[in-house]
Amino acid sequence: MTISIPAPKTVTIAGLTYDVRLTPHLAYEGHPARGLWKQAELAIDLEARGPGQLKTVSLLHEVIHGIDAAMCGGQLSDEVTEGLAHGLHQFLNGLGILIDWGTHE
Ligand SMILES: [Zn+2]
Repeated sequence: MTISIPAPKTVTIAGLTYDVRLTPHLAYEGHPARGLWKQAELAIDLEARGPGQLKTVSLLHEVIHGIDAAMCGGQLSDEVTEGLAHGLHQFLNGLGILIDWGTHE
């Protein structure tokens, strides 16, 4: 059995609610980026183009950055963060939980 969850327009991390925004041609310091966690704006920007699975991994990645910053002292490297995001994505898929990005406006 598979459960398809509508893509979230907001997520709450450590008590703060972040907007989840899809942005085409997302970039950071001149380089293409799949996701950006913007604490000062309470926003998570994700690259709008590409497969939904990658958006899910990118969302998990940015959420882990937020949890790390708020609760773990920001100690995780980007490589560890990415590994955890892929691991959580695989775990959710194993439970049959998918995020449907077609519903995100
Ligand atoms: Zn990162």
